[in-house]
Amino acid sequence: LRKELARLDRLNLIGEMAAGVAHEIRNPMTVVMGYLQMLSGRAEDGLQEKYDIIMEELNRINAIVTDFLSLAKDKLVEKESSNLNEIINSIYPLIMADATKNDIEVKLVLADDMPELLLNEKEIKQLILNLVRNAIEAMKADCRRLGIETHVHDDKVELITSDSGCGIDSQHLNKIFDPFFTTKDNGTGLGLAVCQSIVDRHKGSVEIRSEIGRGTAVIVTLPRS
Ligand code: ADP
Ligand code: MG
Repeated sequence: LRKELARLDRLNLIGEMAAGVAHEIRNPMTVVMGYLQMLSGRAEDGLQEKYDIIMEELNRINAIVTDFLSLAKDKLVEKESSNLNEIINSIYPLIMADATKNDIEVKLVLADDMPELLLNEKEIKQLILNLVRNAIEAMKADCRRLGIETHVHDDKVELITSDSGCGIDSQHLNKIFDPFFTTKDNGTGLGLAVCQSIVDRHKGSVEIRSEIGRGTAVIVTLPRS
């Protein structure tokens, strides 16, 4: 037991240090990106493309650091009485743009009488966008359908995203929520870990239903307050 506690202590310390480092990376990053933006505004011919690549890569680092920070379990987030359907509607144009670009048909079915829930709007948007991104990235075959649904029950609300994509290998099912687990060449493996941590902070749960070659559904359950 003492060994196990020592191990947990060490893990906690590592987690705290990692979060500290991630936090410290953000400030210099902001300065670098600001100057880069300024310089790229007056780039000579032929350099613009290179500035764009640098900016893209910096954005990627930023996204990873941001994701990493939102993994912190005890992260304090403020929740407000909000409407899940309205949050979905507010990012729908973003989702549609991404889907259209990838030749994907979107079906949106929102429940009537959505009750107000205690939500952190920014985190719920992040949750939905992460799930939608995975759905879009899973669809390479001809049939490309993305579904977003909400359902209202007596004690809970469900948010379901579904895709007609490649499905998830049963051997991977117990790993996909682990930070840094990815099957993609340029994946970070942080998307679902962030989703899990957001859902945890909302006292909800996540369930995956997937069939190889047919598609995947992610069911997020949020408690009614
Ligand atoms: P990343 O997208 O960077 O790989 P995620 O944490 O978002 O990281 O997802 C982890 C892994 O889970 C993915 O690499 C993929 O193998 C699997 N996965 C997640 N969502 C889906 C989906 N909708 N369809 C198929 N596989 C998925
Ligand atoms: Mg992802």
